[in-house]
Amino acid sequence: MTNEKLKKSILNKASAILENPCDALPEENLVKFVSHFFRRKDIYLEMVRKNGSPLYLIEKNILKDRAMAFREAFQSVLPEVSFYYAVKSNNHPEISRTLIENGFGLDVSSGLELELAISIGATDIVFSGPGKTDAELSLAVDHSAHVAVLMDSPFELSRLERIAEKEGKTIRAGVRLTTNEKGLWRKFGIPMSSIKDFLEKSLECPHVAVNGFQFHTSWNLNPDQQIQFIERLGRTIQTLPAQLKDMISFIDIGGGYWPTMGEWLQVQGTPAGSLLKHLQIDSGNDLAHFYMPSETISNFSEKLGAAIRQHIFVHKPCRICFEPGRWIVNDAMHLLFSVVDKKDVDFVITDAGTNAVGWERYETDYFPVLNLSRPALIEKPCMVSGSLCTPHDIWGYGYWGEDISAGDILMIPTQGAYTYSLRQHFIKSLPEVVIIG
Ligand SMILES: *Cc1c(COP(=O)(O)O)cnc(C)c1O
Repeated sequence: MTNEKLKKSILNKASAILENPCDALPEENLVKFVSHFFRRKDIYLEMVRKNGSPLYLIEKNILKDRAMAFREAFQSVLPEVSFYYAVKSNNHPEISRTLIENGFGLDVSSGLELELAISIGATDIVFSGPGKTDAELSLAVDHSAHVAVLMDSPFELSRLERIAEKEGKTIRAGVRLTTNEKGLWRKFGIPMSSIKDFLEKSLECPHVAVNGFQFHTSWNLNPDQQIQFIERLGRTIQTLPAQLKDMISFIDIGGGYWPTMGEWLQVQGTPAGSLLKHLQIDSGNDLAHFYMPSETISNFSEKLGAAIRQHIFVHKPCRICFEPGRWIVNDAMHLLFSVVDKKDVDFVITDAGTNAVGWERYETDYFPVLNLSRPALIEKPCMVSGSLCTPHDIWGYGYWGEDISAGDILMIPTQGAYTYSLRQHFIKSLPEVVIIG
């Protein structure tokens, strides 16, 4: 591209981004969310009084409720279904244990997670993930009564066959399919075009019983991506010889269901805000919040159920498996911490740092910071910062409350997904975990 052409295409793209700003987060959604947690504030304050600050607070009742809602949504539209909780989304053992008690198996993506699953007595485990080591495959074979390996490549199939043969065992298995053959997601699974070769090769591996497919697309605000892939998969299954079609007894359609509240963003989390940030232009109001709506789980289940019947079951009826993580666990854990220092009317430092969540989440994602000690249904501008020696240690640019002072107890609700399992033992010690319900 010549410089002029490149410049023009950059400017066109930038103006398209600026002309299509993200929707504003509706005030009523936000107020409803905040008031729900303020109504329950005495429960949370009591936990801090008893256990100190900071805390990760797990609400088991919420977890059970989400587990049941997810199962019911899909059980009502499909004849044979299995559910596997994606351990990586929150690896606290009590969460996996509670989900097992509520009819879930576990989806693990490493030997470490497999060990956790075995140690808590899980008996229905799927093991997926790229680059499984021989030691990890051996561990799966040792527990073959309870584990199915979702393989990632033909080479992994050969290695699993060799290991299972050596141990004189047969292991159940499936193969992961690449959902996007370009870019970063190429690292997962095999391309659709090599399904036939893979299944044929597996017939020469008597110790690995291949009987299904897995795919996983991430970050689905609606089921469109999943449905498109189901259509593609149906077209491929149609072309398989009967002998290979008959091998298919399950299709695992992965996780990636976005929680019903939708995605809540800071201005910097939106395309326009991120563009301005890179241009070093101030995007204005820090208390503007943005919103990407998502569909309810019953919308997901109805549309996915219809697509599976239309594109898959006409060729091969089979069991459908699900691997939700975020949808199940997002609402079931909250963060509680307190104000240590007030450096200005609009600047406070808290006892916890964002090492508790392991990434700079709140620079892009918006979650309300609730002052449980002085509740009010108004958000006031204030830099609410953690105590790590980095300026990126930020909880938010405001708090909900009348005022804020040293000693106040703050809460960020619904932090169950991709926070606790990414925690870092960095500078500060980590919050204690308290479980209620
Ligand atoms: C991460 C992951 C999941 C869970 O995704 P969520 O977005 O948390 O629902 C499920 N399956 C696989 C293979 C994954 O890698």
